[in-house]
Amino acid sequence: MTTLRLILGDQLNPLHSWFAQTDDEVIYTLMEIRQETDYVLHHAQKIIGIFAAMRDFAQHLSAQGHRVHYLPIDDSGNRQSLTANLDVLITQYRVQHFEYQLPDEWRLDRQLCTYCQQLPISSRACDSEHFYSQREEAAELFGSRPHWLMEMFYRRMRVRHGVLLEDNQRPIGGQWNFDHDNRKAWPGTPAVAADTRPRHDHSAIWQSIVAAGVNSFGTADADDFRWPLNRAKALQQLEAFIADGLPQFGDFQDAMSRRSWRLFHSLLSFALNTKMLNPREVVERAEQAYRQGHAPLAAAEGFIRQILGWREYVRGVYWARMPDYATHNYFGHARPLPAWFWTGETRMNCLAAAIGQSLQYAYAHHIQRLMVIGNFTLLAGLAPEAVHRWYLGVYIDAFEWVELPNTLGMSQFADGGLLATKPYVSSAAYIDRMSDYCKGCHYDKKARSGERACPFNALYWDFFIRHRDKLNHNPRLSMVYRNLDRFAAAELKAITQRAETVLEDLPGL
Ligand code: FAD
Ligand code: SF4
Repeated sequence: MTTLRLILGDQLNPLHSWFAQTDDEVIYTLMEIRQETDYVLHHAQKIIGIFAAMRDFAQHLSAQGHRVHYLPIDDSGNRQSLTANLDVLITQYRVQHFEYQLPDEWRLDRQLCTYCQQLPISSRACDSEHFYSQREEAAELFGSRPHWLMEMFYRRMRVRHGVLLEDNQRPIGGQWNFDHDNRKAWPGTPAVAADTRPRHDHSAIWQSIVAAGVNSFGTADADDFRWPLNRAKALQQLEAFIADGLPQFGDFQDAMSRRSWRLFHSLLSFALNTKMLNPREVVERAEQAYRQGHAPLAAAEGFIRQILGWREYVRGVYWARMPDYATHNYFGHARPLPAWFWTGETRMNCLAAAIGQSLQYAYAHHIQRLMVIGNFTLLAGLAPEAVHRWYLGVYIDAFEWVELPNTLGMSQFADGGLLATKPYVSSAAYIDRMSDYCKGCHYDKKARSGERACPFNALYWDFFIRHRDKLNHNPRLSMVYRNLDRFAAAELKAITQRAETVLEDLPGL
């Protein structure tokens, strides 16, 4: 019986049980299609990275003796749609059975489900064998609770999977979470290790993407494109991180600096999200580093929490709440993104740095995404849908299952507080404490009003004034409202006037 197996661009796991043995009756297909390049405007490096990794994976499978039908983006027979190409392949190879791995994105899941329902041949959806948890696990845990606390999910995962435990049930070190130890600014030392990630010659692939007419943004410069394109390179990157990054990861997890765009972050999200790496092996390696005395507990726990906790948790939120989740807009924000989101040209140093490096490397680390870019978009009342589309396009690791809950939920509070117990917003004080961005900025980090006042300051207070009815009952914000209510009337007026000016002139900031 001839079987066709579809491998999506984020399913590049050579250890999947599909590949344990070769079978001449099984044909694997990977396709570069406009359907996937065009559903949102993407960063050039994201398109190059996924296609280059798919090509590498196809070569690897062929070298192992598997039959592979690869469809490049500029192939004349490519019909540029997943299902149209599948139709052609099913006829061409007289396929009698079709299989796919469960997609992580709702839109692809629906498309393949619907497709299979009308197929005249048998079909089967297989597990992607990647995640710790099942799609519905978070929904089962939280049920109808108004707030879905990550911490609760995370502790359950630690126990269930025996991670960083004593006697199989108590957290090592007597604490589940060392978040409070992970909030230091980086003074310039310890030094960040040199970037040893390999460069790739991606000129041929880039030419075929351009020739096919695919639109993109961000730099495609070969010097800036250093993402791992297969499992072997991803494993090297994991080892380099464990050796040089993990020991400092905890302390400087929230730090930001113009002197280092990655600091001690792992840059593993692309390899994880395309499934070159399995989260278990990354978590196990970090735990081993701690147990061997190579990394402090706070660092290992902080890193593991991101993967075993946040990553699995946001996926659970996504599957529980889609498709409605994408439409949430709790504050009714509607402003468009200013043009500098696509150029990085703003006088606000923090945003110029965070957006600038996003355009250069298709990467910003968590605090830049949350407390600089997301902080600003929320304070300025930019439309969450537009913010979501920008994040989904710009980052090398952006796939909707992980990007959407982080952007709409954690960062924009657009779900009204399902994920976050309060909006993640701050004035310049936080950015100044955690970074060196404010030094030399055109704007005055201390001032709340006046032409040179940092836009974050007036917008911060104006945000709480504008949304008082939605936020002032939140116990975690009682201090904010107490402080706000202490302002003299003249000060309040100056703040709202400054906020108004900022909002009228977003493109010119
Ligand atoms: P590290 O800081 O080294 O962390 C290690 C790993 O933990 C990451 O590789 C990632 O797999 C995981 N992780 C860390 N934080 C999160 C989180 N909040 N949710 C899920 N996994 C997490 N992550 C994505 O993978 N894709 C996205 O599209 C994405 N969009 C985001 C949008 C916003 C607004 C915010 C605030 C965060 C977003 N994140 C996203 C989470 C996080 O910023 C990235 O995972 C991280 O910056 C990737 O860099 P790294 O590999 O160096 O991570
Ligand atoms: Fe950003 Fe304001 Fe600091 Fe400038 S002063 S870097 S705009 S926080």
